[in-house]
Amino acid sequence: MTVSAAQVVARIAHLSSSTVVSVKPASQPSLFNDTLNKLSASHPEVNVEHIAQNVDAGSIVAQIGSKDLISLLTIADQQTLTRLVPHLATLIRAPLVISVASFGEHSDIMALRQSGLILVHSSTVEQAHDHALLAARIAAQSKRAVLHFFEEASGEVEEVTDFDLVNFVGNSGSARANGVNGHANGVNGHVNVTEDEDGKTAGDDIEGAVDSAYSQVSELVGHAVEPFKLFGSQDATNVAVVLGSGAEALAASQAGLAVVDIRLVRPAVADRLLSSIPAAAQKIAVLEQSVRRTTRFGPLFVDVAGAFQGSDRSLPKVFVSGTLGSVEAGDVETAGQELISALDAGKHGFVIGSERKLVAKADANTSAGPVSVPKHEQAYNLMLEQVFNERLSVINSPSDETDSHPAALSPEYAFGQVLAQLEKRDELTDAVNEAIRETGHSSELHETLAQWVSSKEDAKKNVSLSNKLASLLESDVSSDALKKIKSLSTHLAFKSRWIVGSDAWAYDAGMGGVHHVIASGRNVNMLIFDSVPYSKRDAIAAHKRKKDIALYAMNYGSVYVASTAVYADYTQVLHALMEADRFEGPSIVLAYVPYKNVDAPALDVLRETKLAVDSGYWPLFRWDPSAEARGTEVFRLDGVRIREQLKQFLDRHNLFTSLANAKPTLSYDLAASQGTGLRDAQRRKAKEAYEKMLGSLDGPPLLVLYASDGGNAEKVAKKLTARAKARGVAARLLAMDDYPVTEELKDEKNVVFLTSTAGQGEPPQNARETYKAMHNKMAPGSLTEETNFTVFAMGDSHYWPRAEDAHYYNKPGKDFDKRLEILGAKRIAPIGLGDDQDADGYQTGYKIWEPLLWKALGVDTIEVKEAEPEPITNEHMKIASNYLRGTIKEGLADTSTGAIAETDGQLTKFHGTYQQYDRDTFEERKAAGLEPAYSFMIRARIPGGVCTPQQWLQLDDVSEKYANKTIKITTRQTIQYHCVLKSNLKAAMQGINKSLLDTIAACGDVNRNVMCSPNPALSELHNDVFEFSKSISEHLLPRMNAYHEIWLDKETDSSKQLLVGGALQDYEPLYGPYYLPRKFKIAIAVPPRNDVDCFAHDIGLIAIADPETKRLLGFNLSVGGGMGVTHSMKATYPRLGDVIGFVTPEQTLDACRTVMLIQRDTGNRANRKQARLKYTIDKVWGGADNFRAEVERRLGYKLAEPKEYHFETNTDQYGWTKDHLGNWHCTLWLENGRVKDEPGNPFRTGLRELAKIHKGNFRFTPNQHIIVSDIKPEDKDKIDAHLKEYKMNNWEHSGLKLSASACVAFPTCGLAMAESERYLPLLVEKVEKIFLANGLAKDEVTMRMAGCPNSCSRAWIAEIAFVGKAPGSYLMLLGGAHNGTRLNKIFRDNVGEEEILAVLEPIIKKYAQERITGETFGDFVIRAGIIAPTTSGAAFYDNVNTESTIPAPVQA
Ligand code: SF4
Repeated sequence: MTVSAAQVVARIAHLSSSTVVSVKPASQPSLFNDTLNKLSASHPEVNVEHIAQNVDAGSIVAQIGSKDLISLLTIADQQTLTRLVPHLATLIRAPLVISVASFGEHSDIMALRQSGLILVHSSTVEQAHDHALLAARIAAQSKRAVLHFFEEASGEVEEVTDFDLVNFVGNSGSARANGVNGHANGVNGHVNVTEDEDGKTAGDDIEGAVDSAYSQVSELVGHAVEPFKLFGSQDATNVAVVLGSGAEALAASQAGLAVVDIRLVRPAVADRLLSSIPAAAQKIAVLEQSVRRTTRFGPLFVDVAGAFQGSDRSLPKVFVSGTLGSVEAGDVETAGQELISALDAGKHGFVIGSERKLVAKADANTSAGPVSVPKHEQAYNLMLEQVFNERLSVINSPSDETDSHPAALSPEYAFGQVLAQLEKRDELTDAVNEAIRETGHSSELHETLAQWVSSKEDAKKNVSLSNKLASLLESDVSSDALKKIKSLSTHLAFKSRWIVGSDAWAYDAGMGGVHHVIASGRNVNMLIFDSVPYSKRDAIAAHKRKKDIALYAMNYGSVYVASTAVYADYTQVLHALMEADRFEGPSIVLAYVPYKNVDAPALDVLRETKLAVDSGYWPLFRWDPSAEARGTEVFRLDGVRIREQLKQFLDRHNLFTSLANAKPTLSYDLAASQGTGLRDAQRRKAKEAYEKMLGSLDGPPLLVLYASDGGNAEKVAKKLTARAKARGVAARLLAMDDYPVTEELKDEKNVVFLTSTAGQGEPPQNARETYKAMHNKMAPGSLTEETNFTVFAMGDSHYWPRAEDAHYYNKPGKDFDKRLEILGAKRIAPIGLGDDQDADGYQTGYKIWEPLLWKALGVDTIEVKEAEPEPITNEHMKIASNYLRGTIKEGLADTSTGAIAETDGQLTKFHGTYQQYDRDTFEERKAAGLEPAYSFMIRARIPGGVCTPQQWLQLDDVSEKYANKTIKITTRQTIQYHCVLKSNLKAAMQGINKSLLDTIAACGDVNRNVMCSPNPALSELHNDVFEFSKSISEHLLPRMNAYHEIWLDKETDSSKQLLVGGALQDYEPLYGPYYLPRKFKIAIAVPPRNDVDCFAHDIGLIAIADPETKRLLGFNLSVGGGMGVTHSMKATYPRLGDVIGFVTPEQTLDACRTVMLIQRDTGNRANRKQARLKYTIDKVWGGADNFRAEVERRLGYKLAEPKEYHFETNTDQYGWTKDHLGNWHCTLWLENGRVKDEPGNPFRTGLRELAKIHKGNFRFTPNQHIIVSDIKPEDKDKIDAHLKEYKMNNWEHSGLKLSASACVAFPTCGLAMAESERYLPLLVEKVEKIFLANGLAKDEVTMRMAGCPNSCSRAWIAEIAFVGKAPGSYLMLLGGAHNGTRLNKIFRDNVGEEEILAVLEPIIKKYAQERITGETFGDFVIRAGIIAPTTSGAAFYDNVNTESTIPAPVQA
């Protein structure tokens, strides 16, 4: 197979190194990246860094400082190679291979020859292969840096196998290579050098190491690999010594000519070089491919001369130096003749071949080309454009091509430009002032001149005045002053001048550049990017920590400084940019945008940003010295989570003294680490409990350590502990990571490890530290047989369908079992394996294992007389809560933690709020000993999803003040806030209530927000139906005095009673003290649109119109819909409702209440996974017919038969629609319902501004979009113009994109198993390409994603669906009906993006080719035999075949 030298080299680099740094050329694709990317998929352990061409590669490599091999891959571009020079003194003693793809011209490479690098050259692909191995071997073995430069060419080569390669280089990288002591010792924190007792480094015998590497490589590849190679006869008298390509062909071109091909350039081994030169040589020419060299003689010439001079051999009479240019295949003969002629002439400086072509080829392949702005930095550029429009002047913008010199992008150069511009504007101002003093000008001109001066720095007025002045000067330049003004007219406009410092294009904004700007005192702004990922922060040299620039600048006192991060707080960046512009003096805005490489996904940038902001590494703040004069705060802290780190921040730099004085509220006390305290308290509590238990129980001690992500294993462990206690065992229970395993396990007598299985066979989150400690810190034999153990592992044997992945099944448990034995503990019962696939799930294995444990503990014969204590369930919590009060009030007042008590967490759901924590930062905070970053989600109750513009303004205000400045429109037609801190929770609740909306029953075991088809334009029935959604919601609302007392500080009858000494007495007429067994949902659809997915709810009402009057006749009543499922638990399934009858408007409230009360009375309260109405109907009532009979019995009358109806689609209709009254409604598309501002897309601002002028309503759709509704005809144009201005008229997308929908999932949803809202847009983009390629641009196909099987996005109904199982792994389903009347079916288990795209492509293609007119995708995949239809919820798992093949295309 033909391969390129770069591919061969990249492969060896990847397989032999622990880190590969690949330099991406600015203007062309990388030669190495395809190979690196492919290998990274199978070898993720190798750290591959992609860096831009103008980044300082040497500094990056120096910071990595690995004791294992590092490879740097680059093309021979001058900038990259020159930047290496200052680092080489350090790097030459590192295990480093620098592989340089050359295109013939070697001047820049040869400039590095004196640096101590070992230099090897390859002119063919085979040599590139052999020398890459050689270089890796030498570097790994002798810890010396090798530069291997190779001509980029293609050819065939027999490559060594991966196995041989890894062994070959790997062997040398181990103890032997590390010298005498076998350990790698870091020196100066950067590179590793090993020294023996005499202080000699292992790499000091370079020549010996090089020699032995040559023979080892020769042995490995099966042919001789040599430093020099002679082509031609030993008797030749004409000899060329060549460093470059084509030596063999050149030798063959002329009789009597021999050519010595130089492959090892450094170390220059004189003896062997001489021995390669024929003894008969009378004329020697030294040829080098260095056209641009500045010396008369090339370095090789000097080497050869030196070799002769240091030997007995005398130099031949003719010894000349020349240049080897480009010699193409047909020109070799001529080149040979040129060489002979040059030897005959005996003069230096001749050229063989074409110099011009050589240079042209090198230039074409290595020139830096136009610099592009990395995509992640574009966000800031867009914001600059958005804020300043035509006023914006980015002085060193890469898009400004007027000066192509690389220095034009440097901040220093830009600063010079700014100064020049400012001076010119000063000159202009002087000229204008002079012209004002002159007489004889027209009054208009005079007035304009005067106005210009007074508003020359007024962003608003300056534009029109400058334009006016310029046009007046067209006709009047009657004085010198006016002439001068005209000549300087380009400076009339008041610009917002920005110098941008980017790691990628204006590299190293550098302290130098910043210093000049600050010291100048001029009105210039600097935007300085920092792209160092938080996770790599420690590897970055101090001088590159941009965050420290802020402190430096603030120390000047007269500089505006802001530290921002667009992925953390968009609004703060906007404020900072505007304030910097307004500030009369230098401004520095630091912009954090962390990315590991330019192609890093946005999600990674987001996570890195969060970690940095959350940890206080990158604090968000603004420092505006001019604020003092205005009487406002100079320092504003914009981040909410950095306070505990602030002390560290202040202490480290010791520059904030004045700040701390000025802002005493930022007390140092805040720095106390609450997390550490909590952990200590937790440990103390555990120990006390342990001691107490030991005192009260006399049976054997038992420690149960559990690890659980989803809570299942935790429940089993709790139950086990309770059962142990019932047998008199002194049992105690701890999460694994809360137990100090390294210190205390050795003292335990009996211990049970009980764990579930996460992700790809990994331990759950709360066992990761234990797992690592037991495998890395605890040595074999560190336990004794005094410690008895047994393990119970829980997993799903079908989770990994491929045979090669089967070992992941219950892997953590098996690993613990094996490791405990190795550590020396004694197994008292064999490992128990709980398998979700067994008949009874995990219980099958558990029932066998548990008796073995009792037996081993000697308590198997103990009779358990008392009933085992029941675990606390939600039902217990509800009844004990005193009508949902619990200790919520007390929890809110507790400032020692961001959380509330666990039981209160269950109760607050009824109040419309959930406790969550940031899952992105969980690990990092845990490692730092901090509690998770707790916050709250708040959900409002908005029946029918309608709010007024005034209400929206209030809701938006809450998001700005207390949440994360975004609002999520949900699939239940309401809104949610995320990231509300406990300290803000009450204020946020009050803020929502101020809008006359509330959050009662938005979550919890009650009737939730009642939904209804949202678009008034689509049916005359709409208004009647909407009124019903409100009245049903009110009718089924819990009274919840607790809500008013806790959140609104209102007195209720109950609280008044408490005040006079009585007990709180509440009354819930509908719900009673237990409320419902589970949540309860109602939706109303207005055919033909089923946009509410009415069959997905416990009650679905289908509005039926009177054919005559067109008014509401009544509703078909559907019952028993529900989406929630537990993976692998077939007793759980999604279900669509059954239509059981028709109710008139008068009967509707009663019917709804009756259905809900049957569920209250007969729903399963023992098992929440079986508690929804769908299971009550199927399992308690034996089906919909019996349930209907019960409804009729309770109502006291028969339900009428359902009326006819017809649904077409469950999607939204975008854009403008007009209703029967002549009013307009406009449905806006909003990606996954997230109202937010983004660079270039200020949707939230647009909506807020719209609310100020809109006189109708806003309506939220169940597909998470917004309708600007009830617009009078006369207002339509104004609204339309506003939508255009803010780019909110954005519904021109593909049908797929418009029909896609995702739930929230990561980072806030505690139940998420995989990404959803953050990932679906990326997936849609890729699937969309397949749709477009098949001509399906406008076809609506519902594609939904959910982060877990609860499926808040109603994924089980979509035509294409993905339901998260683990990060990056989804259940894929097909075949839902486009109108929401059929569930889909599992098509593939555990698929990632690659497989999703691979299976979808042929199916979509088939659909495009074979569908019949009007056939929807969901119907087609069933007709085409791709998937079986799901006929009912209970049959959801029937006919699932996750390995089915896609039927062949039907032949035309
Ligand atoms: S479907 Fe699951 S992951 Fe998504 S928001 Fe609902 S509970 Fe969270």
